[in-house]
Amino acid sequence: MTTFGQLLRKTERRFAVGGIGDARIEADLVWMTTLEVSRAELYARMADAPSDAEAQSAEELIQRRLRHEPTAYLLGHREFYNIDLLVGVGALIPRPDTEALVEEALRIAAGLPAPLIIADVGCGTGAIGLAIAANLPSVHVYATDLYPAALDLARRNTDRLGLAERVDVLEGDLLAPLPGPVDMITTNLPYVESGEIPTLDPEVRLYEPREALDGGDDGLDLIRRFLVDVPRYLKPSGVLLMEMDPRQIARASAFAADVVPGASIRIVQDLTRRDRVLVLEMSA
Ligand code: GLN
Repeated sequence: MTTFGQLLRKTERRFAVGGIGDARIEADLVWMTTLEVSRAELYARMADAPSDAEAQSAEELIQRRLRHEPTAYLLGHREFYNIDLLVGVGALIPRPDTEALVEEALRIAAGLPAPLIIADVGCGTGAIGLAIAANLPSVHVYATDLYPAALDLARRNTDRLGLAERVDVLEGDLLAPLPGPVDMITTNLPYVESGEIPTLDPEVRLYEPREALDGGDDGLDLIRRFLVDVPRYLKPSGVLLMEMDPRQIARASAFAADVVPGASIRIVQDLTRRDRVLVLEMSA
């Protein structure tokens, strides 16, 4: 009989050899997921052994992870800000970088007259819009995306969080699905330069949707197309918050200043103190 204790050590070794970082934690997660137990419950069962079915489903997870499939896709969900989101192939896994955008959006929204209408453009799993809606009872959110897998995840997340009355998930290109101008736009459009895609971690490069990452030659293809339309979709005094690569902020700010004359633009840093969010406020 092979016990959970022995299997955990073996799984950890296989992950370490396979170049998976945090091998110990990842080994725990595989077995916690398989048995649907907490870490404490798993550790309390160290001397037990799995059933054949459990051993087989753990083995499938281990092999997927060894092929560098992201842990979040294996688990099927991920914490973001203070909500839990379903994730899956076809939508970017919500990242801690993006929490800085949510934080700033909530701070600004708290100072604007309610009820606010917010558009989350290219919503993926719905992370940004849903985190804002979950934390601000007075907002209505339109979450847009072009891709069916993302729309499906965003709708399921909306229902699962009980936010269906205040969050509409709309299919379409960028701002086009919006019924009219809004008070705030949030977005994390693809901004990775095409030439850098091959240098990304295999987890990202092989499994996450290229259409959520690839921003063209200089990373700003979609962002420029989006910014041109922003003035038509933001009310006077409306605010745009856009996640970016720290290296693009100067170029993106210059472009935004050109196409949205009179707006004020500032930059907010992420948790690692890198320039991360472009905040544009329309003049009143
Ligand atoms: N921050 C993401 C990454 O580097 C990119 C997200 C995006 O393109 N919007 O993996």
